[in-house]
Amino acid sequence: MQSFLQFNPTRLWFGQDQVEQLQQELGTNGKRVLLVYGGGSIKKNGVYDAVMEQLTHMQAEVFEMSGVEPNPRLNTVRKGIDICRDKQIELILAVGGGSVIDCVKAISVGVYYDGDVWDIVTRKAVPHKALPFGTVLTLAATGSEMNNISVITHWEKNEKRGWSSPFAYPAFSILDPTYTYSVPMDQTVYGIVDMMSHVLEQYFHLTENTPMIDRFMESVLLTVIEAAPKLLADLNSYEHRATIMYAGTTAFNGLLSSGTDGGDWASHQIEHGLSAVYDIPHGGGLGIVFPNWMKHCAEEDPSRMKKLAMAVFGIDPSDKMDHEIALEGIDALRSFWNSLGAPNRLGDYGIDDSRIEELVHKSFMKDKVGQYKMMTRETVRDILIRSLA
Ligand code: NAP
Ligand code: FE
Repeated sequence: MQSFLQFNPTRLWFGQDQVEQLQQELGTNGKRVLLVYGGGSIKKNGVYDAVMEQLTHMQAEVFEMSGVEPNPRLNTVRKGIDICRDKQIELILAVGGGSVIDCVKAISVGVYYDGDVWDIVTRKAVPHKALPFGTVLTLAATGSEMNNISVITHWEKNEKRGWSSPFAYPAFSILDPTYTYSVPMDQTVYGIVDMMSHVLEQYFHLTENTPMIDRFMESVLLTVIEAAPKLLADLNSYEHRATIMYAGTTAFNGLLSSGTDGGDWASHQIEHGLSAVYDIPHGGGLGIVFPNWMKHCAEEDPSRMKKLAMAVFGIDPSDKMDHEIALEGIDALRSFWNSLGAPNRLGDYGIDDSRIEELVHKSFMKDKVGQYKMMTRETVRDILIRSLA
């Protein structure tokens, strides 16, 4: 196990009607708040009204920015920065899924940066200050509600980039599972695949002697595997929405990489390339890429996949070679995601090999891709080709 600092400053309010905590979080009456949301789902499911009721009660001066895209775009971040400066905003409130939250993270640091906020996203500039922001989560998936990571797309350049900063933690996040009742089946599945992928990325680390964290991760995966089919059979179940919501947060709030090297994350990089070029849902892309990344890696060293196969997918190891156990585990993951209805080949999104070199190139928006296994252009190409059909 490596030395580590366990630190997470986000105050998490979890449960039905926790939106009332906005009063406490606002602290004083009359704050100038920028309410940021997406394409309007919050107006249909009552979340907008519930949030506004609290803000009105606190006599907040509310400004609004709607229209944050899934896979949020740089131009929308720039627009938000202008509004914050123009209206002298004191607190930003992100109401939505990971896209809205990631956009708000970039706005909050961009407000205090003199240059173009793309410099921060591309890590050419380091933020030193941020406007405080909070979130009201409406979709269980990314963990963005309790981490300091944000992913922004420069659509004109077809680049999707992740960045992080100690200033990019939400001050608070409100998680009411009932707010996720209206998430449609497909987005619910993408969220489940994304949160499982976050655990898997961290599971594929190279640090020795990490039994506690390995079992934490296995437990999150086992819990999601148990709850997900039940949730899909009853999208309005409080119990299962709550389990999945908390799993999504736990999957990616820093806890699961305590004492490890942080994990691999190549599948996420490859998916970012796919979303940057084809604008596909993040969880949909991961569902296709991740098992193929695992198969690619298992050919060289199946040990970690074998461990996962036995601990999470209950594969019986007797009379089998390591790579057979590993492959059975990968097939079990594939079958599980298939059973949820997740996409399993790029063809499901009408993607063929015509832009494969561009996809390889767009996966390398960081100096190094992968850690459990360091990727080269050839290995990424191999994983994409396996993902085609
Ligand atoms: P999302 O892009 O925020 O939302 C997807 C869709 O779900 C939107 O159309 C949204 O509609 C809808 N939606 C959200 N809540 C809903 C509700 N309660 N009822 C009905 N529809 C609802 O999805 P996401 O998976 O949370 O975020 C994906 C983004 O996060 C990607 O860009 C991905 O790369 C990034 N990501 C970030 C992290 C991180 O740590 N920061 C980790 C993984 C991925 P509206 O627009 O109308 O709300
Ligand atoms: Fe993700």
